[in-house]
Amino acid sequence: MVSTLTPEYTLKLQYMAEPTPEQPLRVIIVGGSIAGLTLAHALLRIDVDCVVLESHDEIAPHVGASIGILPNGARVLDQLGIFDDIRAASRPLEWSFAWNPDGSLLYRNEAVKVLHERHGYPLCFLDRQIVLDALFKHLGRQQKRVHTRKKVVRVQTLPDKAVVHCADGSEFEGDLVVGCDGVRSVVRNEMWRYMKPRDAASKERSLMTSEYACVFGTSTPTAGLSPGEIHRTFAKDFSFLTICGKDGIIFWFLFHRLAKRYPADNVPRFDQKQVDAHVSPYLSQAVANGVPFSAVYSNAMFKTLLALEEACFTRWWTGRIVCIGDSIHKMTPNLGQGANSAIESAALLANHLRQLKQAFPGGKIPLSRLERHLLEWQTGRWPRVSQMCAAASALTRLEALATPIHRIVAHYVLPITESLIVDQASQAMIGAEKLDFLPLPLSSMSCSMPYIPGYDRIRGLFIWRRLLATALFVCLYYLSANGETNLLPGNRLTSWSAQDIPSTTEGVTVSGLARMLLPSQLTPVYGIWFLEACREACTRSDLLLCVLFLWFKSTKNAKLITLHAYSAVGLWIAMHLKGTGNTWPVCCAVHYIRMPLSRLVLGRQQSIRAEALRVFHPVMLTGYCLLLLAIACYCL
Ligand SMILES: Cc1cc2nc3c(=O)[nH]c(=O)nc-3n(C[C@H](O)[C@H](O)[C@H](O)COP(=O)(O)OP(=O)(O)OC[C@H]3O[C@@H](n4cnc5c(N)ncnc54)[C@H](O)[C@@H]3O)c2cc1C
Repeated sequence: MVSTLTPEYTLKLQYMAEPTPEQPLRVIIVGGSIAGLTLAHALLRIDVDCVVLESHDEIAPHVGASIGILPNGARVLDQLGIFDDIRAASRPLEWSFAWNPDGSLLYRNEAVKVLHERHGYPLCFLDRQIVLDALFKHLGRQQKRVHTRKKVVRVQTLPDKAVVHCADGSEFEGDLVVGCDGVRSVVRNEMWRYMKPRDAASKERSLMTSEYACVFGTSTPTAGLSPGEIHRTFAKDFSFLTICGKDGIIFWFLFHRLAKRYPADNVPRFDQKQVDAHVSPYLSQAVANGVPFSAVYSNAMFKTLLALEEACFTRWWTGRIVCIGDSIHKMTPNLGQGANSAIESAALLANHLRQLKQAFPGGKIPLSRLERHLLEWQTGRWPRVSQMCAAASALTRLEALATPIHRIVAHYVLPITESLIVDQASQAMIGAEKLDFLPLPLSSMSCSMPYIPGYDRIRGLFIWRRLLATALFVCLYYLSANGETNLLPGNRLTSWSAQDIPSTTEGVTVSGLARMLLPSQLTPVYGIWFLEACREACTRSDLLLCVLFLWFKSTKNAKLITLHAYSAVGLWIAMHLKGTGNTWPVCCAVHYIRMPLSRLVLGRQQSIRAEALRVFHPVMLTGYCLLLLAIACYCL
């Protein structure tokens, strides 16, 4: 459904009357897209008088753009009763694949499924028009507040009000102007005019640059790509992101590096007739195994070429003007967080405006109080937004293998650190903003990883508890070693090791058969140990080990086998030299410290990685049995 211009607005109009005691706050939202419509919904829920001015003649034009709604944005949209429409119109993503440009697999994982389970919402990728349409449709009778063909050209702030001027000569008055007008924001430019000191604007402007361009489009179903799959191709100076959504519709993106990093005033503008010429060098590169980009591109229904600006501005408001969304935090799309962050910014701003409204139930809000809340709003939002901008920027460069370090990470670290990546993504979700004045939806509460800002810090604290708890046992262990107490069964240096390890059995006769049977006795113990070490919750420690073994260039499985076999051999040698009694307590203590129980209860953290199960038998055979047998035979 689309709102159209009514004749009354062709006249110059004073939209709002003087504030009445019941309506002390009047907000003018410039831009009727994700940020603007989300904010309008939220403000209407708290009875704030608002109006949305949109320059286009349609709210939800069909231009072939797509959008991914992630759990942090989904939760707010769910609070507003809009998410069900989005869920119904999309096919939740399940499988992630990463490819080299020749079509060979870098890695494949279920990260998006894990995120769904942890945070209660699927990753929905769909036509952007559907999202905007749902936002507009759910305004119901309040759609009359959305005015299309209202191109804002100027904003005036006065001590007691702000006035917004449109290109058609109409004017709108309010207490606060919110710029939701995207990356080329007029409201932001107007805000800069009012900023002090005078050079503040030029400093802000210099924060926006563009180093990558993107060709994106939508294609009809293409052989080799199945619904629910998300494919990324990592290549030198370019990357593909290809998503197969509902009914097999393909949403695709080709990101490529520009010749240089352009400043804001000089960002290239492309002629859409250049698209074919632009993509031609990439047509033979693979978006998935056996699927060249040409196969997707030849099915394209829509395609667009644009330069990608990046900026995380530091001044988000001044006086009666504030900006949210792309107008103030513009990130590259690789992370899929631009719109989701805009939704969060709108939610937190609405929370602050509600507090203001409650503080002044029957009168006009002083500018100083408004400014205090805007300051608190920006201070509250800044850590997450700046992290998101940095993460999006890093991901764009990682996928385009921008530096040798990016190449090493993409080729050797990412394939074996799936759960680390998922953990990072979860970090982005758990501190997400919500609307404080609406109930939390069931989906967001029936998930395994709660949305609690600072949750990781709480989790991090557990390590001190674990260290303290372990310290007690370490003390007992050393006391027993000095012979001061006899708390451990027997002497740990001789008795335990004498039963198990051939070369430390001085003075004890161990039959040849017993030595031959040794592997069969120890293998189950080592097997359990190996699998325990492969639980998702152990990720971070595994990363350290993986980095140590980066030099080993082979297939993914071989890397894992080597990794675990080597660590297993290390453990075995330690037992051999120092005795089981010496080694096991240390191993158990380290294991306890590295795998907090709090991590084990989170979603799939307790599950054992499929890769580990696949290499279990080769690892046990090469890492333990054969080696142990060889040494046992040698000692015979
Ligand atoms: C290729 C691509 C893919 C993306 N994919 C994702 C994704 O998967 N997930 C995600 O979260 N984000 C994604 N993003 C980012 C996302 O699209 C933006 O972050 C999001 O649209 C920002 O919303 P916004 O409301 O702030 O601005 P916009 O969506 O840019 O909307 C601005 C609105 O203001 C209107 N306007 C502009 N000037 C004026 C004016 N002077 N007067 C009145 N109205 C005006 C415009 O017409 C427009 O409707 C993607 C971006 C791109 C480029």
